[in-house]
Amino acid sequence: MSWSARLHPITPSRPPTLALSRRDFVKVCTMAAAAVGMSSTAVAQVIETAATGARPSVIWLHFQECTGCTESLLRTSHPDVADVILDLISLDYHETLMAAAGHQAEKSLQDAMAANAGKYVLVVEGAIPTKENGIYCQIGGRTAIEMLEDVAAKAGAIISIGSCASWGGIPSADPNPTGATGVSTVLGKTVVTIPGCPANPYNFLGVVLQYATFGTLPALDDLGRPLFAYGRTIHEHCPRRAHFDAGRFANKFGDEGHRLGYCLYKLGCKGPQTHANCSVMHFCEVIDAWPIGLGSPCFGCTEEKLAFRVPAFQTIDIERPTPPDTYPPIYAEQGGVSPVATGVAGIIGGALVGAGYVASKKIGAADADRPSDDRPAS
Ligand code: SF4
Repeated sequence: MSWSARLHPITPSRPPTLALSRRDFVKVCTMAAAAVGMSSTAVAQVIETAATGARPSVIWLHFQECTGCTESLLRTSHPDVADVILDLISLDYHETLMAAAGHQAEKSLQDAMAANAGKYVLVVEGAIPTKENGIYCQIGGRTAIEMLEDVAAKAGAIISIGSCASWGGIPSADPNPTGATGVSTVLGKTVVTIPGCPANPYNFLGVVLQYATFGTLPALDDLGRPLFAYGRTIHEHCPRRAHFDAGRFANKFGDEGHRLGYCLYKLGCKGPQTHANCSVMHFCEVIDAWPIGLGSPCFGCTEEKLAFRVPAFQTIDIERPTPPDTYPPIYAEQGGVSPVATGVAGIIGGALVGAGYVASKKIGAADADRPSDDRPAS
């Protein structure tokens, strides 16, 4: 079935017809729910709701962007996340996917807003230009600012998907001629922000699952990002982390260290400052389909201070050089900490500090050793 044909009319109470087998549907829901941190009981409720309950109306607006977030959602496979999302929501307006155009499209938008006022989910993909009163992006005779403020005013929840809608993304790169910025800046309030270039469809699905089932939104960090996906840096759960700790680095693309899968820090990896779950939630359900998995340094696309601002191959400061504090804690069997536990903790703590020390020493030593033309351009 084509995507345009998959668009649902404004009938939120219509029971959905699952496009997937129940087995695949349960599999995707379970993966997304696990990413969000839902319990197995909650997953069962999610599946039950999807099979029988009302689906929230979703209005999806596009502004300054490449449509990459929609594309990455469409390109998911085995099983199809996009089908699951469409089984969970009633996608009432999406400019890329809908069959309607012109006045018919405008009517679809107004009808959806009127029928679900105060309840629909507004998803925004793309940055909003603010210079010259926003004339650089107009749809149906209205600027992106006007359209956003109008649709957001009656929304039950607002989601910014992708780095452009989150904080400006590529359109906001210097010199930012259109004054491109994110949804929360224009609206002056926190919204659910799912940055990424593109955003991982599973992170979007996780938010949709929770909202569709429980009517709630996930816990957010101070930038509006769901903690389940953006609570840690790439560096904290990177498969190349052991090489970083041991001081084994790729010094240039194609060298022996690169071929052996060593740490990409010296090639400009932004993983140490980038909060995202790409390393554990790969794209398109393909193993290693994420930048570092494919041998490219992390670009920092979920961070406003990094992506499209810091040169790709420029190294960055490492905020936390020692391994994360995620190892099993050392508990005393009864009461206070035993001398043995204290000793073990001391050994482990010393090892962690030592690993960071070794890595930092080797970074410096290798930099001093190699010729300047052997270093990545900045
Ligand atoms: Fe992984 Fe980059 Fe950290 Fe190296 S610097 S361990 S490649 S996140």
